Amino acid sequence: MKPAAFCYHRPNNRAEVDELLTELLSPEVYLLAGGQSLVPALSARSVRPEHVVDLNHLHGEPVVPVAEGDRVRIGPHVRMSTLRADRRLAGRLPILAEMIAVTANTAVRNRATVIGNVMCGEIAAEFPALAILLNAQALVRRDGETSVVPVAELASARRTRPAGGPAGGAWTSEIILPLPDPQTRFAFAESARRHSATAVAGVVAMAGLTPAGPVVRACVFGVGTRPFSVTVTSSGEYAGGLADEIGQRVRAGVQAQDDVHASADHRRSVAADLAVSVARRALTGQVRR
Ligand SMILES: Cc1cc2nc3c(=O)[nH]c(=O)nc-3n(C[C@H](O)[C@H](O)[C@H](O)COP(=O)(O)OP(=O)(O)OC[C@H]3O[C@@H](n4cnc5c(N)ncnc54)[C@H](O)[C@@H]3O)c2cc1C
Repeated sequence: MKPAAFCYHRPNNRAEVDELLTELLSPEVYLLAGGQSLVPALSARSVRPEHVVDLNHLHGEPVVPVAEGDRVRIGPHVRMSTLRADRRLAGRLPILAEMIAVTANTAVRNRATVIGNVMCGEIAAEFPALAILLNAQALVRRDGETSVVPVAELASARRTRPAGGPAGGAWTSEIILPLPDPQTRFAFAESARRHSATAVAGVVAMAGLTPAGPVVRACVFGVGTRPFSVTVTSSGEYAGGLADEIGQRVRAGVQAQDDVHASADHRRSVAADLAVSVARRALTGQVRR
């Protein structure tokens, strides 16, 4: 099929995007970034916007992540492949490249933007789970004003509509990804019914040491309509039992849904088992072979 007719807009800079989103009174306004979720949804007519605002022609937007001290700024033109290839990030946060390597395929990653990946509403999206684990923030612009919104909030809000739903008068101009302490260890795993299929459940975990003792934080994705995060700390130096506790907390707390890929019970159970093994790997610094 082909998309239904819509008005196409090509703003040249951030201010023009702001103006368009304020002026276009229709609720059905979608932003076009890499198009990897939006274009198939347009073609299938599961979305029928009156207006599409193309973000690909903004002048002066960096196409690479911009390092700024202990954080990285990711603008609307940074593609998933570029983020994966970034050398500084590869040295500081190797789990990022590992997770992006299993996100979709090369052709999709070459077009898909990082911000589009957060906004597209995909419940099994890998990058948003890592961003949530790191407490990443998004700069959201509405009526020319910018507010700082946790990526956790932004990604969760988009999970129920095809291609993440319409813009609703706002857009994301940057994601700010904090870089962890170099001693922090990460691990990640996901499980799918067959090779390369959408994950039934996935978990990314980080383990570190605070003055109070070891701490493990995990984020589960692909299971409910929102990524589920859990943090467990140990009083004292002993880290044994933390991974099992993470698993119990995931099993008890994660909201799962039945769908064609898996039952809610199966998703919960896979998520809890993965959480234990991923948390254990993060704690021991074990690298998966
Ligand atoms: C074959 C295939 C396999 C895939 N597998 C995976 C996978 O394994 N893991 C995974 O995570 N994803 C997967 N995806 C989803 C893919 O990652 C997303 O389609 C892509 O990241 C969306 O980014 P985009 O730049 O193409 O966004 P677009 O498709 O252009 O836009 C998607 C949504 O984001 C909104 N949006 C985009 N930019 C902004 C912005 N700056 N501010 C506000 N809203 C914005 C748009 O309005 C739209 O609603 C897969 C997709 C395909 C086609």
